[in-house]
Amino acid sequence: METEWECMDCGYLHEGKSPPHRCPDCGSVDAWEKVEYVDDWDDEELEDEEELQAEEYSD
Ligand SMILES: [Zn+2]
Repeated sequence: METEWECMDCGYLHEGKSPPHRCPDCGSVDAWEKVEYVDDWDDEELEDEEELQAEEYSD
């Protein structure tokens, strides 16, 4: 899963394991903050699918 980094100066988003030294948008150096993703919705979708399958089988 890719990590996202947000430039604290301009809000530019960079996707990757590590951000570039300099922000390509505003030129700020080391202004990155890691964007933490809560992938709860992903799990929920999976659970829904499993529930649907379970319903099919139980009928
Ligand atoms: Zn920037």
